[in-house]
Amino acid sequence: MFNQLISLIFLLSITLNAALADSLNLGTTTLNGSFSQGGMVFGKTDPQNKVFLNNKDVRITPNGDFVFGFGRDAKDKSKLTIRQPNGQVLEKFFSVKKRDYNIQRVEGVPKRTVYPSKESLVRIKKETAQVKQARTTDSNLQHFLQTFQWPLIGNLTGFYGSQRFYNGEPGRPHYGIDIAAPTGTLVYAPVDATITLAHKDMFYSGGTLIMDHGYGISSTFIHLSELLVKVGDKVKQGDPVAKVGAGGRATGPHLDWRINWFKVRLDPQLLVPPMPK
Ligand SMILES: [Zn+2]
Repeated sequence: MFNQLISLIFLLSITLNAALADSLNLGTTTLNGSFSQGGMVFGKTDPQNKVFLNNKDVRITPNGDFVFGFGRDAKDKSKLTIRQPNGQVLEKFFSVKKRDYNIQRVEGVPKRTVYPSKESLVRIKKETAQVKQARTTDSNLQHFLQTFQWPLIGNLTGFYGSQRFYNGEPGRPHYGIDIAAPTGTLVYAPVDATITLAHKDMFYSGGTLIMDHGYGISSTFIHLSELLVKVGDKVKQGDPVAKVGAGGRATGPHLDWRINWFKVRLDPQLLVPPMPK
């Protein structure tokens, strides 16, 4: 009953602050995308230029394309710097929209804490390092320029950025989008990718896949029951890559889809059209 009430409140209070695609110009450089927390932004510039976001180098493709994103709690101002071959430097500050995330406060309830065993801790440490390595891949693939597709059609049951507080103590924010479907349902590559991690059963995330789309953009699929690909495989948009499951610490079968720009977690929902009914 308590859980049903929670999910009802959850469904009623979904306020997806859909950030409309926006654009920005700086000299001959253009930016297009979601200028909001969790948003991804695509840029185009003269391939001779150098691009910096908040003073950090952003690598550009030979055609002058580039990409970056904003984390769940990104600051409201960011700075784009373009250094031209003639030495001229252009600089522009722009705002990053703040979003309202679904926050649940659960009071008077004992927090369900699971202390992993010593062996599990060793395992968790190893798995965390594997994930980190996959997510820091900085390849020259340009698949991130394709239009992203839903990897699975189903009911959305979890959203980017949501967080629960137990007796005032914050739990980890949710960085993926949950799509419910029966165990065994096929899930598909959202754009072309090279598989950088394929793990049958991680402690927290169960069957886990990480797919590289290039220039730091990757997709993560977790709680999978079966993997249909292995590390190094090249997949096309729409290729089946795995099956839905409830592995790791999932409460029921669903796909949890995450998008990363290196270490930064982005909101997949801002990249795809509304979920078809
Ligand atoms: Zn999830």
